Amino acid sequence: MPEISVVVPVFNEACCLDALYHRLCAVMDSSHLDWELILVDDGSGDGSTDIIRGLAEQDSRVRPVIFARNFGHQIAVTAGLDYSRGQAVVIIDADLQDPPEVILELIAKWREGYQVVYAVRKEREGESWFKLATASLFYRLIYRITDVKIPLDTGDFRLMDRQVVQVLNTMRERHRFLRGMSAWVGFRQIGVPYKRAARFGGETKYPFRKMLRLALNAITGFSYFPLQLATYLGFLAAGVSILAIPVVVIGRLAGSKAFFGQATTLIAVLFLGGVQLISLGIVGEYLGRVYDEVKGRPLYVVSEVPKQEDADQT
Ligand code: UDP
Ligand code: MG
Repeated sequence: MPEISVVVPVFNEACCLDALYHRLCAVMDSSHLDWELILVDDGSGDGSTDIIRGLAEQDSRVRPVIFARNFGHQIAVTAGLDYSRGQAVVIIDADLQDPPEVILELIAKWREGYQVVYAVRKEREGESWFKLATASLFYRLIYRITDVKIPLDTGDFRLMDRQVVQVLNTMRERHRFLRGMSAWVGFRQIGVPYKRAARFGGETKYPFRKMLRLALNAITGFSYFPLQLATYLGFLAAGVSILAIPVVVIGRLAGSKAFFGQATTLIAVLFLGGVQLISLGIVGEYLGRVYDEVKGRPLYVVSEVPKQEDADQT
């Protein structure tokens, strides 16, 4: 069995795969550890799949997991964890934004006895101000409202001990936020700072829509705050209306016409209607997720798995 498994989710990264493979080989071979590379093809349509197959043919340490369609980044990483066999598992992006050289530092901390070693982005290169601003806001919002203390500015680039991976593999929730889940597990955890590079090639596979989805999964997966928000807003609206009663009564007795007219009614109705619809939408977000869990479908469907293995690990 290999000592270290490196898990890489791949979605249309044909331009990066060769460079990634060579840099990973250089780094991992310098560590003199026995290692395997799990490339999870998340339904790529740009030839990445063939490149992965090619790499697996020339190097038996490369183990391909090919999805039947695109299931999303977090699910691809999950499949990688399912198929990994190493005593420690490293998760790294395919686009070389996370420098493979940092893996040696992660391994060093693991050797010191830490079970989760996450890489913290101290600097980021080659990303738009919009991405930087939304990412920063996202990490801080999640930190404020979730019950689990998820480290700031930390992506999925990390090393996890087999003990932690075993626990994660039993957590089969569908809407996954792995950084939160690995923080939830506990054990000894530590961060290692690093400088996030620009993409080696290609474009981000995380458009705003997908980032929003991930943020929603993170919030709903680790907090009831949005549901409680509806209660708070309800109390606030009720409080305001109770306070408004004596104000209106006294005003009318004094002969004021300040609270007459359709505009007042319209504003009140629209405000309450808005609050109610938003609350309903929040309940809907949670309900939809409950529905997805209840259906109990497999998290992913694989069309090809590493040799001598069954496809029934989902
Ligand atoms: N990815 C994936 N499935 C997806 C989207 C992304 O497997 O549906 C992979 C992608 O190939 C990359 C990693 O997830 O290895 C991170 O994606 P990306 O670099 O596009 O995100 P960013 O760094 O821009 O946040
Ligand atoms: Mg990237």
